[in-house]
Amino acid sequence: MEISLRNQVAVVTGASSGIGSGIAKSLASAGATIIVNHSSERSTDEAKAVLKEITDAGGTGITYQCDVSKEDQVVKMFQDVVSQFGTVDILINNAGVQKDSKFTEMTLDQWNTVIGINLTGQFLCAREAIKEFLRRGIDTSRSVACGKIIHISSVHEIIPWAGHANYASSKGAIRMLMQTLAQEYGADKIRVNSICPGAIQTPINKDAWSTPEALDSLLKLIPYNRIGQPQDIGNLAAFIASDLADYITGTSIFVDGGMTTFESFSTGG
Ligand code: NAP
Repeated sequence: MEISLRNQVAVVTGASSGIGSGIAKSLASAGATIIVNHSSERSTDEAKAVLKEITDAGGTGITYQCDVSKEDQVVKMFQDVVSQFGTVDILINNAGVQKDSKFTEMTLDQWNTVIGINLTGQFLCAREAIKEFLRRGIDTSRSVACGKIIHISSVHEIIPWAGHANYASSKGAIRMLMQTLAQEYGADKIRVNSICPGAIQTPINKDAWSTPEALDSLLKLIPYNRIGQPQDIGNLAAFIASDLADYITGTSIFVDGGMTTFESFSTGG
């Protein structure tokens, strides 16, 4: 059994770092051409380094700077990708940020920034991707599906998170966005799913693993007793994007070392 994404083009948002870079490399190793998206000028070198790892391993792709919360930039990114590569087959809606604050001190800017990138960004990219999937139609030389979208959500789509109301709200909403799109476009053979990571070792949560004390307290939440790596998410993303997962749509898959079994209840609550 081989996971193959040959002849397919994948846009991976927020691929200059962390989980996005892990997914980009996994999809590339399965044969997809990768658009390594990032938002800022200062992450250009990181995006190029991810692309270099991909091309050094025999893969193909480009880097593309685009802020996913900006409609004009997202529309242009999809137009440019279609004009360069002919179409888009896979969207990995991964770009995300945290702007943490006690709720009564949360500014509107902190709220809007997180919702704008984590939720509106996923809406804008999904809309442009689905328009392109429908324009192209099914091409079985690429995939039996018309297109695949994977939202990167979080365990916080179901676990409330004090001090992170903006982030948890964005992830809870992604669940409904994902399920609604799966329902609305199922008959068109567009598959839409979410991956919900637990604690994955990336810059977004450095405070939670960068000292032995922090890591020790984090591991108390994880029955499998290790922090996750971007590759753990990349492995699943490649599978879900492939035709091996053709009957999987409209679902959230948790990759969390058992965090959502609520470890604190392991001794009887
Ligand atoms: P990360 O290492 O901080 O990477 C975030 C990526 O998003 C970077 O490539 C960043 O590029 C990009 N990005 C940020 N704002 C953007 C925008 N407006 N437009 C386009 N790209 C943008 O974080 P991560 O941990 O890999 O997180 C990736 C996703 O996984 C997020 O959705 C996060 O919520 C989710 N997640 C992470 C964990 C975890 O434990 N790490 C757990 C659950 C869910 P620039 O620097 O260029 O902006």
